[in-house]
Amino acid sequence: MRLVDTHCHLQDPRFDEDRETVIHEALEVLDWIMVIGDDLPNSRAGIAMTRNRVYATIGFHPYYATQVNADTLNELRQLAAHPNVMAIGEIGLDYYNEFSPRPAQHAALQRQLELACELRLPAVIHNRQADDDTLALLQPFLDRLPACIIHCFGSDAAFARKCADRGLYISFAGNVTFPKAQPLRDAALAVPPDRLLIETDAPHLAPQIHRRQRCLPQYVLHTARTLAELKNIPLEEFCETITQNAQNAFQIPPATAR
Ligand SMILES: [Zn+2]
Ligand SMILES: [Zn+2]
Repeated sequence: MRLVDTHCHLQDPRFDEDRETVIHEALEVLDWIMVIGDDLPNSRAGIAMTRNRVYATIGFHPYYATQVNADTLNELRQLAAHPNVMAIGEIGLDYYNEFSPRPAQHAALQRQLELACELRLPAVIHNRQADDDTLALLQPFLDRLPACIIHCFGSDAAFARKCADRGLYISFAGNVTFPKAQPLRDAALAVPPDRLLIETDAPHLAPQIHRRQRCLPQYVLHTARTLAELKNIPLEEFCETITQNAQNAFQIPPATAR
């Protein structure tokens, strides 16, 4: 069965003790994993982990929006030359943890979207309680981006539909398996199968069965199971579809056999 984790943070200190084992065990179960960057050192660390079937994204999370300037954008541009860098992200808006002022978040998102278009890379978007502004800022770039992924979707079904209508991919993390997450499951039901992705956001958001433990990339299977059941699609067929979506979204060459 084909399955991938489109979003994990293996640079996290919680993997310092056993990072290589974690990667090795993940690749026994998954076709590939995407290690997501959130600032410059972290993006570099992600790239250092890449290899066959381990890819990276680079960018500044909205928490670090004030670090985005001409120099750091240029550094991202240089890092993007690495063949295993597949996207710009995670970038976006976070109004829940407003660690950077909103105007700085907006500017950082726009400048990094511009970079993604220039480099013909997809964008991985973080959106927390900023639905309208996220979509408004994305809109002018959507024609030029190869793909755009709303990661760890946390909004309602109406917003999911809006995003899907605009051709965005919508990615669900392990929190969709939590008993109280019916609104998230409703949102997942609103997403057409060809727009759907799944991820772990490891080490965060372990699915219910491993709740509050360190999340591992292969736990994405639990999220797949929940969503396949919800959408009434056989698990194997569901995994095949979302893996193909992920291949398309991140422009991963087809032959990534285990
Ligand atoms: Zn995020
Ligand atoms: Zn993340």
